[in-house]
Amino acid sequence: MITLHNLTVSYQRHPAVHHVSGRFAPGLATAIFGPNGAGKSTLLKTIMGAIRPDSGEVRFDGISRKDIAYLPQQSEIDRSLPVSVIDLVSSGHWRSSGLFGQVGRKQDQLSWDALVTVGLEDFALHPVSALSSGQFQRVLFARILVQDARLILLDEPFNAVDARTTFDLLELVRRWQEEGRTVIAVLHDYEQVRAYFPQTLLMAREVVAWGATSSVLSDDNLRRAADTAAHWQANAPVCAVDVTGAAK
Ligand code: ADP
Ligand code: MG
Repeated sequence: MITLHNLTVSYQRHPAVHHVSGRFAPGLATAIFGPNGAGKSTLLKTIMGAIRPDSGEVRFDGISRKDIAYLPQQSEIDRSLPVSVIDLVSSGHWRSSGLFGQVGRKQDQLSWDALVTVGLEDFALHPVSALSSGQFQRVLFARILVQDARLILLDEPFNAVDARTTFDLLELVRRWQEEGRTVIAVLHDYEQVRAYFPQTLLMAREVVAWGATSSVLSDDNLRRAADTAAHWQANAPVCAVDVTGAAK
């Protein structure tokens, strides 16, 4: 369903994703695992169409980009939005209502149902700025519920999120798989990956391993990913600025 063909994505000619090829298993959850700076967020943004690759392509078979729900890393989200919880959830209806369109009664009901599913119906009329980070993440998952997308991309969805919320939201990931949706999530927790994500892509700009989680997360593969990242740091001075401030 989603295939990457020799995908290379760069910032100022420095590749963050390098010659990545492979296929995401349709209807399953794939975890993206790898060190900081491995290109995980860049890959998700390229799949959802926010960044254009330098070369290669993301090929969708049977789904369109409108069928994608994307949750960025929390650091990229403005939580001071002057909107209520229910309005943020309802903004997930943009595919059917248009970006600034009216939300109908049926859509309204779906938004409420989604809030009930994530356990936040009592907060419907609260401003989103008043929520804890765990509650905020529940609201964003409710928004994904109303989006009803076939492909769901989550970038570090459980960072700074309490254990109870993480558990509840992981159960939603399980439900999405049962419904045949494809989930791709950047994660850092082995236990979460092993318990909820049958597939894993381990990357360090390039693919280190991609396939069944149990075989991908081997000590050997994890060491290779870490070694590759250590190598970037060893190379860092080449691009650094020296003490006089002049680029080398
Ligand atoms: P990860 O999510 O795995 O930590 P990223 O995809 O965020 O990695 O980043 C991969 C590399 O690309 C890093 O070296 C990072 O500094 C660089 N990078 C990411 N975003 C930008 C950007 N907007 N401009 C320049 N470089 C970027
Ligand atoms: Mg990232």
